[in-house]
Amino acid sequence: MTQPSDRGSVVVIGAGIVGAACARRLQSLGFEVVLIDRGAPGEACSFGNAGRIATSLVTPKSVPGLLRKIPGMLLDRHHPLKTSVGFLLRNLAWCTRFARAGTPDEVARITDALHVLLSRADAAIDRMAAAVGATGLFRSDGVFYVYRNPALAEAARGPMAESDRRGTPAKYVTGDQIRDIDPAIPESVTCGFHKPAERFVRSPVELTRRVVQAFAADGGVLVRDEVLRLDTRAGRSPLVRCREANHEADKVVIAAGAWSPRLAAQLGIRILIVPERGYHAMLPHADVGLKTAIHYGDRLVSMTPMSDGLRVSSGAELAAVDAAPNWARRDVVVEAAKALYPDLNDAGATRWMGSRPSTPDSLPIVGAHPEHPDVLFATGHGTLGLTLSAVTAEIVADLAARRVPNFDVAPYRPDRF
Ligand SMILES: Cc1cc2nc3c(=O)[nH]c(=O)nc-3n(C[C@H](O)[C@H](O)[C@H](O)COP(=O)(O)OP(=O)(O)OC[C@H]3O[C@@H](n4cnc5c(N)ncnc54)[C@H](O)[C@@H]3O)c2cc1C
Repeated sequence: MTQPSDRGSVVVIGAGIVGAACARRLQSLGFEVVLIDRGAPGEACSFGNAGRIATSLVTPKSVPGLLRKIPGMLLDRHHPLKTSVGFLLRNLAWCTRFARAGTPDEVARITDALHVLLSRADAAIDRMAAAVGATGLFRSDGVFYVYRNPALAEAARGPMAESDRRGTPAKYVTGDQIRDIDPAIPESVTCGFHKPAERFVRSPVELTRRVVQAFAADGGVLVRDEVLRLDTRAGRSPLVRCREANHEADKVVIAAGAWSPRLAAQLGIRILIVPERGYHAMLPHADVGLKTAIHYGDRLVSMTPMSDGLRVSSGAELAAVDAAPNWARRDVVVEAAKALYPDLNDAGATRWMGSRPSTPDSLPIVGAHPEHPDVLFATGHGTLGLTLSAVTAEIVADLAARRVPNFDVAPYRPDRF
């Protein structure tokens, strides 16, 4: 059993980057924290992402006019969006909310709410990285969105302009201007957008590990176990029932990524999250010489020079959380990279699939359970979990300590669905 400290005790469920960041931040405020994961820290979705601190991604996924394009996207073998009718029917509430999020008024509201978090994300990441000795994992050479087809770059001008207006520069550049900064970007690229203020981490899993190591070194308890049930009990602390042992704590934080809805349902609340699966290939010998991270806009694939090779990643496959990977989608990712670099050396390439916890309104779920204020949520970050991990942790720790965050966190509340 966990013993409460002076500040109180917290169990954090999930040691992905979001849960790890929460555990560390709660600990720094004086809570006694137990961090529970059924696997090793950072080995689920947080393992294989593109590593970008993507502060420019300020517009939501659902935008006006998108719905009528979806059938074409699903039929296009190269497009990352894939799903099945059965999955959509089983997740109708999510789909309906996704459609509603795409009206002009909603897009404006969501963009404002995302901006509130994204504008604080860099500083929060810096604080977290400095506190755990991980600043050396980041590379600040900027990010390019690159295009061979100029018409596709034109279509991206809207979101780029929004990012620019909101303080994360995203400037239109010609192919030659791109190659002046990163000569490894091929001649076939005609134009793109430069995001000089964006950076990336050269090993996302190493970042989570460093956060957890610092947490454990300072007395935090890491437990390898599976949470089976959560019980809230009138007048008593919540009880976290695991396969091996139970844990009682003053507060519980649910940071279980794409698996969070199951735990939420046990507490009588419906949070709308679907697994949005992405795939990557690590190419240990594909030394194309990139110093920037790039997003190849013609094929919607990201290429990040990681510490152990080139990572190519993409995918927005909506499928059940425990469904087997469809490795053909990973092969499409490699094909896309070869469209940009025809001589790409893919010897020894590895494959990976992970599930983003995606909400229909592209906003994370951060805040207290409406009826059980001792249960807090830190999940639903979709494509931005790495970027928003540290700022989420700061909100969660403030709420746990009954400190009012210095900005409005109502847009992220768990009972909005
Ligand atoms: C291809 C791809 C590229 C991406 N690129 C970026 C990017 O560049 N920048 C960015 O910001 N984001 C990116 N993302 C998104 C980002 O990776 C996710 O948002 C983030 O990893 C989610 O973190 P998490 O901690 O919420 O979830 P996870 O990392 O999935 O962690 C959840 C943890 O909870 C544990 N868990 C679940 N249920 C239980 C249980 N019952 N008992 C015990 N443990 C449990 C799991 O084992 C897991 O370790 C990308 C995602 C993908 C797939």
